[in-house]
Amino acid sequence: MNVLIWYKRDLRVEDHPALTLGAGSGAVLPLYIAEPDYWALPDASARQWEFLAETLAGLRRDLARLGAPLVVRVGGAVEVLSRLCKQNDISQIISLQEVGNEWTFARDKQVAAWARSAGIVWQELPGNGVRRGRRGRAGWDADRAAYAETPALPAPLGLRMVAGIEPGVIPSARALRLAADDCPHRQTGGRAQGLALLDSFLATRGQAYRRAMSAPLSAERACSRLSPYLAVGALSAREVEQAAAAQLAARPGADWAANLRSFQSRIAWRAHFTQKLEDAPRMERQALHKAAGDLPGRSSDGPLFDAWRMGQTGLPYLDACMRYLASTGWINFRARAMLTSVATYHLWLDWRAVGQHLARRFTDYDPGIHWPQIQMQAGMTGINRLRVYNPIKQGLEQDPTGAFTRRWVPELAHVPDGFLQMPWKWPGAQGILGRRYPEPVVDVTHAAREARARIGALRQTDRFAEEEALLIERHASPAQNPLFVNDRRPSLRRPRPAPLGQLCLDL
Ligand SMILES: Cc1cc2nc3c(=O)[nH]c(=O)nc-3n(C[C@H](O)[C@H](O)[C@H](O)COP(=O)(O)OP(=O)(O)OC[C@H]3O[C@@H](n4cnc5c(N)ncnc54)[C@H](O)[C@@H]3O)c2cc1C
Repeated sequence: MNVLIWYKRDLRVEDHPALTLGAGSGAVLPLYIAEPDYWALPDASARQWEFLAETLAGLRRDLARLGAPLVVRVGGAVEVLSRLCKQNDISQIISLQEVGNEWTFARDKQVAAWARSAGIVWQELPGNGVRRGRRGRAGWDADRAAYAETPALPAPLGLRMVAGIEPGVIPSARALRLAADDCPHRQTGGRAQGLALLDSFLATRGQAYRRAMSAPLSAERACSRLSPYLAVGALSAREVEQAAAAQLAARPGADWAANLRSFQSRIAWRAHFTQKLEDAPRMERQALHKAAGDLPGRSSDGPLFDAWRMGQTGLPYLDACMRYLASTGWINFRARAMLTSVATYHLWLDWRAVGQHLARRFTDYDPGIHWPQIQMQAGMTGINRLRVYNPIKQGLEQDPTGAFTRRWVPELAHVPDGFLQMPWKWPGAQGILGRRYPEPVVDVTHAAREARARIGALRQTDRFAEEEALLIERHASPAQNPLFVNDRRPSLRRPRPAPLGQLCLDL
């Protein structure tokens, strides 16, 4: 039998249940489809494609070594799949479930309808600890833990390729009509690069993980930097988690243990958040708490949006972070949270436009992590504590020497340390502000107070509380939910749950 292996966000030969199953079923045709309609979406960018194209080149080599090089085609999924199935006598497609954006959810529905009508069996296997079609979260943690502990699959020993197929060219970003996207310090795609980072993180870099993760200057080295490799599936989360567990067993000392455990919990978070988007794909465009999303006056373009996206707000640390992100395609968690928070509270911008811009900037854009995080940091879940980051305070705490801010905002290179995060207070700033570097676009204290007041007033209304109670009921299992006592529904008038840190979207 001829089997088509459809690759999506799982670009590897190791720990790939679909490839393993296909290899045992007959001759295989491993395929990646570059879909122009996907790459025209507002959350897609050339930096993401270029990273992915490098990973595809590596995957093609890995598959060729096993006997079946990767086939790449450009076009719509239904059109490409139906042509290849007809031409090559293929009656079965196997792929790993993809948790992507709303567009990929809709595309998968079209593919499923076509496969049914064409008499093709399309098997989608779970591949990342996320479950499709499950009701509620009861038992989820145990299932995920069991998945993570099951040994990762080795690559098949060999593959038999469906005969007579031209592998096809991996298109350039330009050929896909992606806008130019200068990212000189972008990470390079490919499994080999991902594995090298995993090794160096577990051997040395990770020892400073917890201490150094919050400041961009130290996070660049102390964080694993695995996110884009995990986002395109060059590495499976399970193999990363198992490598960390092996290292933990080998190095139980306190200095390593706390860091490795903290890293392991983040790998678990990615499945947790991805399951959220799997269960509610509309999270990309609809605020989880509708009333929170309906507050008026937010804009998705205009001078404030432009100042934010270009790193020209006149708030030095914020601008440094945005410029660093533009140039590298990556920034650490705390800075991502601050960029979102200032955009959606102080500048009162629309969270969807903010999320799309950041998605384009992230080489590691992963809808399953991104949209739940954007909604949380923008206060759109309604059930989490508001986190309004102060960019001046963040600059003073996360860049105390000013080295990071000066590197990315060289206009302020000569501003004395004590004034660097508030140059408008420096008597010598006249020649700089409004000329080489902007005056601040908002008064940070005043803007934060206004945002809190608007949201605080909404949170006092019955309408808000009613929707909040429904959300708690829908999104939390009794065991996880501090408002559930003896399995009873939460009362509208009970106190709100205590915040549970970054994971509190699940209450
Ligand atoms: C607004 C916002 C948007 C984000 N968008 C993305 C995104 O599109 N893609 C993405 O990979 N991460 C996203 N994150 C989460 C996090 O910032 C990045 O995963 C992390 O900075 C990547 O660097 P690293 O691989 O060195 O992380 P490490 O700290 O080394 O963590 C290892 C891995 O754990 C996972 N992880 C880490 N933090 C989180 C988290 N808070 N939630 C879920 N999983 C996590 C990632 O897969 C990461 O690669 C976002 C965070 C925020 C606040």
